[in-house]
Amino acid sequence: MHVSIIGAGIIGLQSAHALMDDGHTVTLFDPDGLAQRTSARNAGYIAHTDILPLASRKVWRHLPGWLIDPLGPLAIRPAYGLRVLPFMLRFLAASTPARIEASTLALIGLQGLALPAWERRLAKLGLGEKHLRRKGFLNVFPSASAFAASASVFARQRQVGIEVELLQDSASVRRLEPALSARVAAAAFYPGGVSVDDPAVICAAIGEAAVARGAVLVKRSVSAVTPVEGGVEITGTDGQTHSSDMAVIAAGAWSKPLAARLGDRIPLDTERGYNITLPKGSLGLERPVIFEGQGFVSSPLDTGDRIGGAVEFAGLEAAPNYARLDAILARAKPYLPDAKFEGGTRWMGFRPSLPDSLPVISRSAKSDRILYAFGHGHYGLTQSAATGELAAQLAAQRQTAIDLMPFAAGRF
Ligand SMILES: Cc1cc2nc3c(=O)[nH]c(=O)nc-3n(C[C@H](O)[C@H](O)[C@H](O)COP(=O)(O)OP(=O)(O)OC[C@H]3O[C@@H](n4cnc5c(N)ncnc54)[C@H](O)[C@@H]3O)c2cc1C
Repeated sequence: MHVSIIGAGIIGLQSAHALMDDGHTVTLFDPDGLAQRTSARNAGYIAHTDILPLASRKVWRHLPGWLIDPLGPLAIRPAYGLRVLPFMLRFLAASTPARIEASTLALIGLQGLALPAWERRLAKLGLGEKHLRRKGFLNVFPSASAFAASASVFARQRQVGIEVELLQDSASVRRLEPALSARVAAAAFYPGGVSVDDPAVICAAIGEAAVARGAVLVKRSVSAVTPVEGGVEITGTDGQTHSSDMAVIAAGAWSKPLAARLGDRIPLDTERGYNITLPKGSLGLERPVIFEGQGFVSSPLDTGDRIGGAVEFAGLEAAPNYARLDAILARAKPYLPDAKFEGGTRWMGFRPSLPDSLPVISRSAKSDRILYAFGHGHYGLTQSAATGELAAQLAAQRQTAIDLMPFAAGRF
C-alpha cells in the first residue's frame, strides 16, 4: 500500500518507519521539512517512568498556587480563557478517581512499550545506543512533606516494575548531583531513566533514515484528507491533490481541523512550553533533573544544557512570552546557586495535548483508511516509536500490542 503521512514530526517519522517495515511505501507531507517543530527542541526525556496523567491529584494539589502566578508553572492567557474552557471542563471530568485510574492504566500500557520500541527502532536502523544516554532521572523535592506526599506514586511505579531509589535527605541527593543546593530536601532517583543526546539530532537521524529507506518528503501543508473510492485524497493548502491507499494524520498540535473535517471532534489543545539551551556545563548537572512542583526540568544534552518546561494555554497563534523563561530561571537559581544563566537560545514549543493525557491512536470515524496518531502532550518523544508500531498494526488490521480503546478518537 501507499500511505500518506501528514506531519513529519517524531510521530510521523516513527510511523513512517513502522509502515515501511511492513512493506508499505510512504509519502510524508510537512511544510517545514523533517521534524522542525515541537519534536526538535523538547527536553529529550524518554520518560517511560511517568505513569500518571496530568489530571491527577498531584496537579490539583499544586493548581491553586500555580494559577495565581501569571508566570508560574501553569498559566492561562486571559485572552484564551474562553477558548480553553471546553478543554478545562474535560480536564476536570478526567480528574475523578475512576477516570484517573483508567488513564493511569492506559498510560502504564503505552509507557511500557515506549523504551523497548525505541530500542528496536534504533537497532533496526543500525544506530544502537549512539543517541541514548542512560544516566537515570533525578526527581528532586523542595520539602520532606512534598516528598512524603508522593509516596503513593513511588509505590505505584514500583508495582509496575519501575526501579525507584529514595534519597531521604539533602546530603544523599547532593552526593549524586553536587551542583544542587541544600534547597533540595529529598529525591527519587530512577536508574532506568533514559534521555537522548539531543532531540534535534535524533529526529534528524530518524528522518534521514526514513528518506534513505525510500520515504518521500513533500514540503506542503495539507488542508484536507478525504476518503474516496478505494483510497484517500490528500489536498494541499495550495489546492494540489495527491492520491494514496491510506493516510495517517500526525500533525501534532495542528491535527484538530484535519480530524474535524472527518467528523471527529477531538478536544485537542496546545500546552505551550518554553526552554533555554545554555552552553554545555552551565548548570553543572550530570543527569536529567525534574524539579518537582516547580514546572521545569533540566537536561544535559550533548549540545548544551537545557532547562525549561511550564504549561501555557494561549493557543497556536499568540506570540511567545519569554518572561516565562526568566521566571523559570529565577525559580531555578536557589536550587543551582553556581549555575551560569548567561547566553543560550530560547524556544517555545506546542505540546499537542488532550484533557485525559492520552494520545489519539485510532482509526477515523469516517474511514478505516485514515488513521490518527497525535495528541501525545508531554510524552511525544517517549511514545513515538511505540505509536509508530501501533499505527502500523492498525493499518495492517493486526492485533495491537495494547488495547487501543482508551486511545480511540471516539472516546470524547
Ligand atoms: C518544552 C517541552 C518539553 C518537552 N519535553 C519532552 C520530553 O522530554 N519527552 C517527551 O517525550 N516529550 C516531550 N515534549 C513533548 C513532545 O515534544 C511532543 O509531544 C512531540 O514533539 C509531538 O510530536 P509530533 O510529531 O506529534 O508533533 P510535532 O513535532 O509538532 O510535529 C507535527 C508536524 O506536523 C506538521 N504540520 C502541522 N500542520 C500540518 C499540515 N496542515 N499539513 C502538513 N504538516 C503539518 C508540522 O510542521 C510539524 O512538523 C516536550 C514538549 C515541550 C513543548
